[in-house]
This record gives sequence, structure tokens and C-alpha cells, in this order.
Amino acid sequence: MQDIEAFKELINKPRKVVITTHHKPDADALGSSLGLASFLKDKGHQVDVITPTDYPNFLNWMDGNDEVIIFCDGNQEKSYKLVAEAELIFCLDFSSLHRIDELGEAVGKADAVKVLIDHHLGPDSFAKFKLWSTEAAATAELIYELICDLGERERITKDIAESLYAGIMTDTGSFKHPNTTENVFRVCGELIKLGADTAKVSKLIYDNNSVDRIKFLGFALNERLVVLPELKTAYFAISKDDLRKFNSKTGDTEGLVNYALSIKGIKFAALITEREDAVKMSFRSIGEFSVNEFASSHFSGGGHKNAAGGKSDAGLEETLTKFKGLLNDYKDELSQEIKEYA
Ligand code: 5GP
Ligand code: MN
Repeated sequence: MQDIEAFKELINKPRKVVITTHHKPDADALGSSLGLASFLKDKGHQVDVITPTDYPNFLNWMDGNDEVIIFCDGNQEKSYKLVAEAELIFCLDFSSLHRIDELGEAVGKADAVKVLIDHHLGPDSFAKFKLWSTEAAATAELIYELICDLGERERITKDIAESLYAGIMTDTGSFKHPNTTENVFRVCGELIKLGADTAKVSKLIYDNNSVDRIKFLGFALNERLVVLPELKTAYFAISKDDLRKFNSKTGDTEGLVNYALSIKGIKFAALITEREDAVKMSFRSIGEFSVNEFASSHFSGGGHKNAAGGKSDAGLEETLTKFKGLLNDYKDELSQEIKEYA
């Protein structure tokens, strides 16, 4: 972070702090928020973590989960008050205020000093302090480094280490994606030294499925997977009815898109899900095909080069038609051989 000395001074006095993160927080969003919250509380700050929406049950083991304020669960007034009264607002794991829905407007208007800590492409310039690096695999990696740069590593407890480890583990796809750098292993080694039980975190996040979720996975693979070998593309389109049939909960579709990308010869994968408010899209790619560019150009979204998301206000069918039309437009790029892992 530039101006680390000024930042240090700012947090060396107890402050009213709000930490917020993106819509439908994942393990990195929640883990980095709760890890930072616990560190700041230990330093004597008054800290509230506000998430725009709920998040998957497989994250609710994290220390501090019970105090998270979920904005859209009837906590709007309380959240607006905390945001307006905050002296410091941390924005973690997102780069643009529109990703935190209505909360974004309040954060934008608030008098608090804003701090952005993130690793997504294309950040807005609303924050006074910025710790932003697209080289980082996860926001949790940046939080670990920030705490160390502040000279406060000894404040990282086992609980904080596990929340941060969860963020790095999931954002690297369990150390499989190209963002799995030497620094990732170094930081994870340090988190293990600080007490993180990696097997426990892995079990709680990945092997904590309901029977409905496993059956839904079987259904999606059998009935909803479309493979287009000539375009090296595979995608799922999931309707509201499909979700209802399998009693789907928040997080139940997470990871599904990776099955499409795991097919031999596929370099572009999508999951198109009809939600209550909009059609949500998840994109993944291998190599040079930038899903960040695809999502931001066509589906009001963004993210990283090989993992991005977006949404569409048209219905599922119309969105699918648009998506298939776009595949045709990108035909030349998509049909090129995958050079990276040849
Ligand atoms: P996922 O597909 O797992 O929801 O998201 C993949 C990546 O893209 C994550 O880093 C996520 O934060 C980002 N992302 C997902 N949806 C959106 C979106 O609507 N807008 C932007 N800017 N980023 C998104
Ligand atoms: Mn992240």
C-alpha cells in the first residue's frame, strides 16, 4: 500500500470501522473481511462487517460469522446508519461500488476514509488508500501482507489464519489455477505456521454438501451441460425451476462451471443461472481468451482474465440466445488451439 505510514497512523487510534465486500460473498470475500475484522477488533476498533447479500452455508464456520450484518435481510436502515457514522470503510474483494448493490451508493456518499483492498481488474477510484494488485491470487493474500507490513503479524490468530487460508485456497481453485504463485505457497506456509488447519478448512468448504446439492450436480451434468467442441466451449443453463426442484440454497451452484472447463479440449466455460432478480453468469477460461473482457463488454460484469462474472436483465431464453450469438462472433478466437498446456 502506498502511504502505509499515513494508514498506520490512521488505524493506531480506535475508530468506527465498516468492512464490506461483494454481492454473494465467496470464501475470499468473507474470509478476508472476517480476518481483517478480527485483527482490527483486537487493535481496539469497533468493527462491523456488512455483506450486501447472504452467502453459502459452507462459509458459516468462520470466526465472526455470527455478527455479520446481511444488508438485504432487513438490515438496510442499520447498515446505512453504520456506513454514515463510520470513520473508516474497507471495501474488500471488489473494485467497483456497483458490485455492492444499493450499499454502494451509501458508501460512495459516506464521509469515512475509504480503503480498497482487492485483486480484480479495473478498480474505481473512490478510495483514499488502495492496496490493489492483480498479481495477488486472493484478497486474503493482500490482507496477510498488509498485517505483516504494519508489523503486527503476531496478532494473526489461528482463526484469522484459517479465514485467510480459505480465501486463498478457493481463489486459486485449490492451488490449481495459474495464479498459484510462489508467494501463494509462502503465505499459506506462514498461515499454517500460525495455526491454520488446512484439512479442516478444505473439508468444511468442499465436503459439506447436502444430498440435494449432489443430486443437483448429477442433474446438471446429465441434463443441462451443452458441449460445443468446434468452439472449445461448454456451458450450463439452469432455470429457476431446476433450482426449485433441487431445493437449491445459496452456493449450491458454486464450482459447477469448473466441471464444464474440466472437459478435455474446452477452453471457455459458462454457467448461466436464472435467479429471482436477474440472470447471473459465471465465466471461466484457459489461456489467452479473456472472460473479463467478454463479461465486461457484453454482460455488465468483470473479474479476472480467466474467471469473471456478469448478469443480464433479459430472461433466460433471451440471454442464452445472446450468449450463443456471441460465441459465433468469437468463433475465430475460440476455435484456436489451446497452446498453454500443449
Ligand atoms: P463467479 O463466477 O465465481 O461468481 O465470479 C468469478 C470472478 O468474477 C470473481 O472474482 C468475482 O468477484 C467476479 N465477478 C462475478 N460476478 C461479477 C460481476 O457481476 N461484476 C464484476 N465486476 N465481477 C464479477
Ligand atoms: Mn477474491
